[in-house]
Amino acid sequence: NLNQRVDIDTNDEFSQLASAFNIMSTKLDQVDIQRKDFVANVSHELRTPLSSIKLLSESLLHQDNAGVEIYREFLTDIDSEIDRLNNIIDDLLTLVDLDKERLNLNYKVTYVNYLLEKIITRLKPIADKKNISISYKAEEKLQINLDKDKIQQSIINIVHNAIKYTPNGGNVEVKLHSDGKNVVIEISDDGIGIPNKDLEHIFERFYRVDKARTRNTGGTGLGLSIAYQIVTLHQGKIEVESEVDKGTTFYIKLPIDTNMV
Ligand code: ADP
Repeated sequence: NLNQRVDIDTNDEFSQLASAFNIMSTKLDQVDIQRKDFVANVSHELRTPLSSIKLLSESLLHQDNAGVEIYREFLTDIDSEIDRLNNIIDDLLTLVDLDKERLNLNYKVTYVNYLLEKIITRLKPIADKKNISISYKAEEKLQINLDKDKIQQSIINIVHNAIKYTPNGGNVEVKLHSDGKNVVIEISDDGIGIPNKDLEHIFERFYRVDKARTRNTGGTGLGLSIAYQIVTLHQGKIEVESEVDKGTTFYIKLPIDTNMV
């Protein structure tokens, strides 16, 4: 029973033990609540596309004499809902792997410059579609010890967001420098921005500022929590500054491995 508490009315070793037990018990309660919330959220997130698929296929089945065009239209919608389900499940599996791999990062000395150039090349076609320019500036060549695939994924998630949440014709900038202790990757956009009250929540699983709008962008609400978890596993930090309708800047700070220099 996780709600067990021990009453403390003395000040001896037993009561110290009892108080440690009570603290532990509270923490376990919190973990249990978080776990239940997570399961509820996952179920809800999976159910939304499933309900759409059900509705679309049901109405197709009930249409007599529907032409090929109608079939194509409905099947296209069904197809994109299936993509959404796949994206959610991929992201969930990534989170499960990150939990398991906690101490199992595949560290290699890597030039961050090279990584950023690769990421930008990969995302440029998506930016081009919205007529968004991506610029890249590095003050110096910087190499650190990191798990290349994982850090790449966390940077991609953040740069991709910058593109998603910036209107057509906007600008995304990626910059690299060192503050002496960390390699700092700065990703800024001149997009829609994030209201102050949401800033502290955006790294939570499934948190979205505007559910309706972000659904249309194909997001899962998991990208930032994946990025956060990867950077934290590297003993790094992610910081964010934002102003509504002005834009957003994310800072990924990764410690420079002193053993390496
Ligand atoms: P999603 O898959 O919805 O993009 P994320 O975890 O990547 O989920 O981001 C969480 C939320 O943070 C987004 O839904 C969006 O509301 C907000 N957000 C993230 N990056 C930006 C950005 N660059 N500009 C504005 N809002 C952003």
